[in-house]
Amino acid sequence: SAVGTAQIGVTGLAVMGRNLARNFARHGYTVAVHNRTYARTQSLVADHASDGTFVPSESMADFVASLARPRKVVVMVQAGAPTDAVIDELVPLLEPGDIVVDAGNAHFPDTIRREAALRDKGLHFVGTGVSGGEEGALNGPSIMPGGTTESYESLGPILEAISAKVDGVPCCTHVGPDGAGHFVKMVHNGIEYADMQLIAEAYDLLRSGLGASAPEIGEVFAAWNTGDLESFLIEVTAEVLAHTDAATGRPFVDVVADAAEQKGTGRWTVQNGLELGVPITGIAEATFARALSGSAPQRAAARGVLPADTLAWNIPDPGAFMEDVRLALYASKVVAYSQGFDQIAAASAQYGWDIDRGAMARIWRGGCIIRAKFLDRITQAYERDPNLPLLLADPYFTAAVANGVAAWRRVVSAAAAHGVPTPAFSSSLAYYDGVRAERLPANLIQAQRDFFGAHTYRRTDRDGTFHTDWSGDR
Ligand code: NAP
Repeated sequence: SAVGTAQIGVTGLAVMGRNLARNFARHGYTVAVHNRTYARTQSLVADHASDGTFVPSESMADFVASLARPRKVVVMVQAGAPTDAVIDELVPLLEPGDIVVDAGNAHFPDTIRREAALRDKGLHFVGTGVSGGEEGALNGPSIMPGGTTESYESLGPILEAISAKVDGVPCCTHVGPDGAGHFVKMVHNGIEYADMQLIAEAYDLLRSGLGASAPEIGEVFAAWNTGDLESFLIEVTAEVLAHTDAATGRPFVDVVADAAEQKGTGRWTVQNGLELGVPITGIAEATFARALSGSAPQRAAARGVLPADTLAWNIPDPGAFMEDVRLALYASKVVAYSQGFDQIAAASAQYGWDIDRGAMARIWRGGCIIRAKFLDRITQAYERDPNLPLLLADPYFTAAVANGVAAWRRVVSAAAAHGVPTPAFSSSLAYYDGVRAERLPANLIQAQRDFFGAHTYRRTDRDGTFHTDWSGDR
């Protein structure tokens, strides 16, 4: 096959692929570009020649021929069948040692399947999570590549060059074999769901408890963004709450319909959590909260019908209440992250990925949606103990939560008494109390299971598995 000079290629030039291609070009790489519909390729080259050197091709064959070996082709098309279609078109044109990078939002089992299929042909398949949306793709995303160590040797430096940097450190590292990169991106998105839901619950409490307006609450979030909670999502929240709707002059959020949508990564994360038996309650509650918000018939049937029987708010010290909510938000956030990192550990063991959790927190510090100062603390925790069984049990996080646990209980109790739904705050506190419990009521569950199903039980006083003959008790 013909061999060209382009150092990297991008096929799929919608908003994400176009911006990634520009990012490569801006970093001095010669970028081969291709798109099913040629007009997109032409407009990229016409509009952004000043970014660097693009080598446009109309056909996939010419595109492949324009690349230097080993060829590195980034596929940035719609996830699912379109990704398979593009891979099927590419593969016959490639030669052993070439690298296909799927930078779309693939579901990790698809990545495992594709990696195996391409490996059989001597090709490297690198399923790569890319976070940060359009803006990140252009100016530096967080990049989570899976695949072989060998592929990372030549591909890694290019991806690291275009990634976000925090303190000069790239937000990109080799995650692990086959589906590991897309898996970690999935959990990132799940954590993003939890983070957003927790922020929404804090907003709801301030709105309900203090009767505060959106811009007033925006100021609270802006202040919070200068402390432990400092993060992109808190910053965005402050900005959104301060925004005025141009059409009505009202606070923007007050004219937005309260039905949250989702593209499915939260659902994938929860499904996997169930499969691995990892209690990711924060992510699950966040995903279900979106589902509840969109359950129009159920909400219509319940609204004004189901009795509330709530207490009336009476907050003598608004400052103290705000501080309680801030502490509850932080503690719940620690739980959600702790659970997400447990899920990564469980998957890593299950699928043989050997993922370094501290490194994941490090590459999420910049570029991505959950970027936050807080992630440094997580990296440090796994540096202190790479095998840390529970992030919450790291001394820094134990102390951080201990500092807020009384406030957390006050907030969750107040929410229940006043009828403000706080599924993520409440379930995070229940998880906290569950995981630290001396003795859980699972003893009764085991006894029940043995009673009706002879499922057996273990004892506190002796080793072994036991079954009781219950017939005499019936
Ligand atoms: P998109 O709307 O998901 O996909 C459009 C692109 O896919 C176009 O280039 C289109 O080509 C191509 N395509 C669709 N079906 C095809 C087929 N059967 N054969 C060949 N090409 C086909 O684009 P996007 O928003 O830029 O996202 C690209 C990927 O990045 C997706 O997997 C997405 O989930 C992921 N992602 C997106 C974001 C984001 O913020 N948007 C963030 C992270 C990751 P034509 O021009 O010919 O139609």
